[in-house]
Amino acid sequence: MRFDVLTLFPNMFEAVLGESIIGRARENKILEMNFVDIRAFSKNKHRKVDDYPYSGGGGMLMTPQPIYDAYLSIAGDLDYKPFTIYMSPQGKVFSQNVAKELSKKEHIVLLCGHYEGVDQRVIDEIVDMELSIGDFVLTGGEIPAMAVIDAVSRLIPNVLSGEESYKNESHFSGLLEYPQYTRPAEFLGRKVPDILISGHHENIEKWKRQQALVNTLNKRPDLLEKADLTDEDIRFLNNYKK
Ligand code: SAM
Repeated sequence: MRFDVLTLFPNMFEAVLGESIIGRARENKILEMNFVDIRAFSKNKHRKVDDYPYSGGGGMLMTPQPIYDAYLSIAGDLDYKPFTIYMSPQGKVFSQNVAKELSKKEHIVLLCGHYEGVDQRVIDEIVDMELSIGDFVLTGGEIPAMAVIDAVSRLIPNVLSGEESYKNESHFSGLLEYPQYTRPAEFLGRKVPDILISGHHENIEKWKRQQALVNTLNKRPDLLEKADLTDEDIRFLNNYKK
């Protein structure tokens, strides 16, 4: 899968996406990433990339020409249109389901705004989707783009060691994950639940499901309304609430 990021701050990305699991997947050519410096495409003699908004008000807006030319440097010679996302607090709110959908794309371009944002005309021209990472405003789209790339990348086959790694995780199937424990078996007088060292696979699986239900009920009860619950899950929750 390929990601191209259009940004004024390409150097921000390697520190986050050049390390650990994502860094290794790039080395192994499972993921390809390019961080394109929008400023390099400015036709202004001072390489200016922003200007005052016609509407007045404070702040500066990114001008359309350098963004469009940066986009063409990626998409101009392709015989298809890469799926192009503008990171924006006005966009659809990012979620695990959106990450799943995006992981089916072969090639994604992410546009990071800065200052007061981006001239609307270039959004209208190149963008297929606006995506927000939450109802708050950051100074730029770089951190949101990194969050999206990370969340999508780990769903690509062979980026993680196996599908098991993410299928049990919070949000994948609509529930939060169960609590997890590693060595030692006792820490500060707190013991790992007996069931986990019982070696009884079936009971452990049942415990995990029940703990995921309890965790979700206690931390994010809103998720239970949309989760795919079995009759047994519902019976367990009803008993637990008594
Ligand atoms: N004036 C814009 C508005 O009110 O919608 C906000 C601009 S914001 C200060 C600058 C840039 O940060 C945006 O163009 C966008 O790329 C990015 N950004 C800020 N908050 C974001 C969020 N919650 N999700 C995604 N991108 C965000």
